Amino acid sequence: MSVEQKINSLREELREHNYNYYVLDNPTISDYDFDIKLKALQSLEETHPEFHDANSPTLRVGGEVTKNFNTVVHEHRMYSLDNSYSKEDLLDWEKRIKKMVDGQVNYTCELKYDGASISLTYENGSLLRAVTRGDGTQGDEVTANIKTINSVPLQLKGNFPQKFDIRGEIVLPFEGFNKMNEERLEAGEELYRNPRNTASGSLKLQNSAEVAKRPLECLLYSIKGNNLGFSSQFESLEKARQMGFKVPKAAKLTTSIDEVLEFVEYWDIHRHDLPYETDGVVIKVNNLQQQEELGYTAKAPRWAMAYKFKAEQVSTRLNEITYQVGRTGAITPVANLEPVELAGTTVKRASLHNADQIEKLDIREGDEVYVEKGGEIIPKIIAVDLSKRPAGSVPTLYIAHCPECETELIRQEGDAKHYCPNYNGCNPQIIGRIQHYISRKAMDIEGLGGETVALLVNEGLILDYSDLYTLTKDDVLPLERMADKSAENLVNGIVASKQIPFERLLFGLGIRYVGETVAKKLAKHYKRIDAIANASVEDLISVDEIGDRIAESVIEFFSSEANKDIIEKLRHHGLQLEISAEKLANQTDILKGLSIVVSGVFQSVSRTELKKLIEDNGGKVSSSISSKTSFLVAGDKMGPSKLAKAETLGVSIISENDFLLKLK
Ligand code: AMP
Ligand code: ZN
Repeated sequence: MSVEQKINSLREELREHNYNYYVLDNPTISDYDFDIKLKALQSLEETHPEFHDANSPTLRVGGEVTKNFNTVVHEHRMYSLDNSYSKEDLLDWEKRIKKMVDGQVNYTCELKYDGASISLTYENGSLLRAVTRGDGTQGDEVTANIKTINSVPLQLKGNFPQKFDIRGEIVLPFEGFNKMNEERLEAGEELYRNPRNTASGSLKLQNSAEVAKRPLECLLYSIKGNNLGFSSQFESLEKARQMGFKVPKAAKLTTSIDEVLEFVEYWDIHRHDLPYETDGVVIKVNNLQQQEELGYTAKAPRWAMAYKFKAEQVSTRLNEITYQVGRTGAITPVANLEPVELAGTTVKRASLHNADQIEKLDIREGDEVYVEKGGEIIPKIIAVDLSKRPAGSVPTLYIAHCPECETELIRQEGDAKHYCPNYNGCNPQIIGRIQHYISRKAMDIEGLGGETVALLVNEGLILDYSDLYTLTKDDVLPLERMADKSAENLVNGIVASKQIPFERLLFGLGIRYVGETVAKKLAKHYKRIDAIANASVEDLISVDEIGDRIAESVIEFFSSEANKDIIEKLRHHGLQLEISAEKLANQTDILKGLSIVVSGVFQSVSRTELKKLIEDNGGKVSSSISSKTSFLVAGDKMGPSKLAKAETLGVSIISENDFLLKLK
């Protein structure tokens, strides 16, 4: 046997063992023997780099580091799913379906795996790339990370279509999740909250060797492409299995909604025996021809429906209600619970939202309460078990003063929350505002973290974010856990932030209700901070998407003497208080008043750049075509439904080149 043959046969053998172990859960050799073979292959590959193969089983251990994930446009959009909660919902859905298609409708029922969705592209049987769902239209390419997941085949078996996408969910089974948390507990690190978030966070790790250490799995459920060689969803699952993918066997072909409900009821109980988390069932019209006739709404396929399992509930004792002060001064009541297991995690705290919520449910310390975990990480209290209320219990008296600074709380009309008005003297507000200022989407100050900000404030080194710019290395060196190098990085990071564009600074100021998008709108419209500071309410609300609430908040912010001082200090330190000249030069009003839709893949600019061009030139980007659409910029592979809609409504379609010429 030549070296090349030896390498190929080892690869083939290891692939098969890998498949037996991770996809079929049925290993046929010992781990030890597997390792011996893997090492043999590794050493052959090392001495013969000429036979390199990006899909070799030796590359599962990762090592590739991705600095920036490329954005990739999905060839087939990744839709969301509509939700149903009752038999009636399903019957209504069936009625809608039967109006649109003829003949018998069968349904494939599958479990709804709770993880992070992924789209894998295969060409000639090998994995070409893996892309996250992103916004459904485009996602991040995370191929290096996905290759480390052992149940993802790098090379397909048997017959396969020449090129196709396959969709699935990356999940982190409970066992692996708990093990990861045990290790973190030992290391004294903060625990991961739940398997889903940890799975989705894993996809975006920069070092694929770190991903390889996580026991992730990939469960597949949908194939997209041409000439696939099957005509129903149920067949496609079998086809995927034959190609070597992990497709859970729970899937079932049913012929009526009653049978669908049986499936739901069965799995509502038995899901607790599964090794990974599921949050419902997905029901799909089985016949692909019928699926095509049904098509999609703006958000989801008409041929599929999710049926959510009822959120899990437990009851436990409410030991104490405490109050947190946020960066805007908003007070959040928190329920401190007797720790209890719920949906695979230990729950110790639950959100109580606001005073009304507490009053409505008459929640009291010492009560036995029902806790439910929906999609959010923080569970909520949904009811009190009055039969267990201890004698002598008293209604909760909502605090009247700030738990941090004792200032009397206020509650504005129409606002559910209480606020501490001590804007400049309340510690969590001061710290929170600076933490927001330095955060990634705002000033993104490298080398400075939230805890250090708290230390800086508590040590009296800074009072507001403008003070950051006076900090020297000698100021910060005495802080806890601050070494020479980190002190230097911190100061450098602060200096570098002076170049951050105006719109992000505006967002970083932490004006209530001025989020990222609003900050962009204001920056674009007014161009300079002074213009915003001098604007009247009427003037502000004339800006697209700015309402009363935002306008008043902006006025309030800029009328404060303290804030005026801070802005002057920022100006003095050389921060960007206006749009850069370069950006200004690129902005025009050419497209003013126009509503423009973009669709397809573009050659000379990315979709994001194209949208930015439209906005910079005064136009508005709209996601769907209507009679108000001025025109549609079409790239390659534009969706046929968009095309048809544009034609019916008589919306003109222009090419990428013509559009770019228009701007010249
Ligand atoms: P949602 O995010 O709630 O709109 O639900 C849609 C998501 O469910 C999809 O993006 C998939 O990631 C996920 N999903 C999980 N299991 C399945 C399945 N068997 N079929 C289709 N989608 C699924
Ligand atoms: Zn306070």
